[in-house]
Amino acid sequence: MQTTIRSAISFSGVGLHSGKPARLTIRPASAEYGVWFKRTDIAVGDAMVPARWDATEHTPLCTRIFNRVGVSVSTIEHVMAALVGCGVHNALIEIDGPEVPILDGSAAPFVRGILDRGVRDLDTEVRVIEILAPVEVRTDQGWARLEPGSGGLTMDFHIDFADKAIGTQNMSLDLRNGTFVRELCDSRTFCRQADVDAMREQGLALGGTMNNAVVVDGDKVLSPGGLRHPDEAVRHKMLDALGDLALAGAPILGHYTGHKAGHTLTNLLLRKLFSTPGAFRMSAVSAETAARLPGAGVNRHEIPAVA
Ligand SMILES: [Zn+2]
Repeated sequence: MQTTIRSAISFSGVGLHSGKPARLTIRPASAEYGVWFKRTDIAVGDAMVPARWDATEHTPLCTRIFNRVGVSVSTIEHVMAALVGCGVHNALIEIDGPEVPILDGSAAPFVRGILDRGVRDLDTEVRVIEILAPVEVRTDQGWARLEPGSGGLTMDFHIDFADKAIGTQNMSLDLRNGTFVRELCDSRTFCRQADVDAMREQGLALGGTMNNAVVVDGDKVLSPGGLRHPDEAVRHKMLDALGDLALAGAPILGHYTGHKAGHTLTNLLLRKLFSTPGAFRMSAVSAETAARLPGAGVNRHEIPAVA
């Protein structure tokens, strides 16, 4: 069954890059609606922005979507990951500013809010995007691939940073049975102190603090309290990838591999997938397959306590 959130829930905070405060409200929506953002601060013209791969700008630091009149919403990836990770297929997300609040830098506050409200079945079957043939994109940064899987969504991710506090990290996950909630949702955005300085010079990361991002410098973690997981960085990259893959518009059945991949690569991968004949098919899923999707089997009590 397709689903939506049972009742509206709001979150307030500043955006990581803009530093601008915003109030975001996730509202229930009907079957087949998908996920749309609505800029409630835009009084004139089209304020609706679709959470779709083909409405996405290539921005290395966050995922920004825009509509045909140029109205945009930035840094949507964590709330999108929370929706897919909690199995919410349809929602209207109202926001009164240009950027989603960064909150604690992870998706855990969104997950807690969504699971507090609960998820409601809608009387319409779920359609999925089943990967039938491998597609891959490469840049000088890294590569990303989607290939046929074993009946759900599985992910491998590899990162490799010069800073010893991050270093080389690998993780493989099968996202069934609430794995996202247990393993990924509380992992925070991370960055290197040197990047923070460079971003500030470009007018970015203006809302970033040691409390909403893990900042590292060489072998040191500068953020107070240290890491939530020794491999928090790769977990966060997987959280981001799940949020970016959610822009496909339907759950993906297949295997994703990210090798030093980021927002741009995952979006290029979706663009390639949808422009490659025979690489995918849309189909209704059986109850057995639906039970393997990332949002099935989530449990509020499994949100890590640290978050
Ligand atoms: Zn992120």
